[in-house]
Amino acid sequence: MKNTFLLSTLLITTLSIVGCQHYAKSTQTDAVSSTCHFNDVNFDTQFPAARLDKCEQTGKNRYKLTLQPENMPINDSPWYAFSVSGKFSHTIHIDMHVEGGSNRYHPKIRVDQESKQSNWQKIPFKRHGEVMTFDLDINQQPTLIAGQEIITNDDYDNWYTALKNNGQLDIITLGQSVNKRPIKAIIQRHNAKQWLVVLGRQHPPEITGALALFPFTETLLADTPQARHFRTQYNVLVIPNLNPDGVQLGNWRHNANGVDLNRDWKAFKQPETQAVHQYLTQLVKEGHSIAYAVDFHSTRKDIFYTMPHTYPIKNPMLTTLWLEQLDQQMPSFQVIQKPGNNPNKGVFKQYISDTYRVHAVTYEMGDNTNREKIKTIAHTAANTLMNTLLQTTEAP
Ligand SMILES: [Zn+2]
Repeated sequence: MKNTFLLSTLLITTLSIVGCQHYAKSTQTDAVSSTCHFNDVNFDTQFPAARLDKCEQTGKNRYKLTLQPENMPINDSPWYAFSVSGKFSHTIHIDMHVEGGSNRYHPKIRVDQESKQSNWQKIPFKRHGEVMTFDLDINQQPTLIAGQEIITNDDYDNWYTALKNNGQLDIITLGQSVNKRPIKAIIQRHNAKQWLVVLGRQHPPEITGALALFPFTETLLADTPQARHFRTQYNVLVIPNLNPDGVQLGNWRHNANGVDLNRDWKAFKQPETQAVHQYLTQLVKEGHSIAYAVDFHSTRKDIFYTMPHTYPIKNPMLTTLWLEQLDQQMPSFQVIQKPGNNPNKGVFKQYISDTYRVHAVTYEMGDNTNREKIKTIAHTAANTLMNTLLQTTEAP
């Protein structure tokens, strides 16, 4: 996945604020980035997905950075992304504080600032109680630091373009986000009447889930005998980026209205969930059926949240059969399946099962799972899911 963020596009402003405060209001607009300039060091957040809420100089070459959530209450997922430069080459010490949560994402540096291919490396850090500390060697060139790899809305658009150049598919707009960004979907349909639905980025900082969605989708859309056969039986709908405002704003979890989209699949008060629900409703009205859904996230470990096989839905063993195949095909990967049923929470997985009476899975990758392993798991997961769905369809 290419990250097309270009440092040359950074807008270096002439603001000289020491300690700058984020907004706190009901609907976030896009003009929320803060910029912290000190005598020798600049922290900049004038780029998509950037986030750094407050900065203070606390000593010689020592800076306290504070992260704040977009609103409360919120799950603990403090996101940060900023670029830092110095008037001269020197080492600075960062103390990362979190208000309303605790540090989750280990610091990373983009090491190929000049090249288009993005390459991120871990920065050694220590924890002192709730504070995460690390050192940075900085110079006059901006250095990009973030909690995980940065994947922006533009990166998704570039991916759609690359996919379109590779094969026959459509990119459609299902609706608009709170701040009027398109909710885009990839559609691959032939004559089938049943649909596999793939969803991603309800929670913007959950990058390892996004890193899994790309190869998972590419495997479904690949020009392989299995995938071609699968697509004669199933249409594919992928909504990779349900929360483009949250992505742009560098939010911890919520959309621009301060709502967790993965708690809105019952009330449908947000335009992002409404857009998907309306599209699926229309498909069903036209005589199609929703056959399965996978929703990509990240958490502390690799885990699949599933519906219990005792739940009254079609093909009760389908998910178990899929995950058993995945486990067998990947001896180095231990599949953990956690069935659950929460009818009133407004979670996507539950919505799919209760509305369409079929299985859905929350596919969670660990925050620190090896990136190459994420790809291998996703590729094998897509192949084994296609295999399981075809076997289920073709069973007498
Ligand atoms: Zn999540």
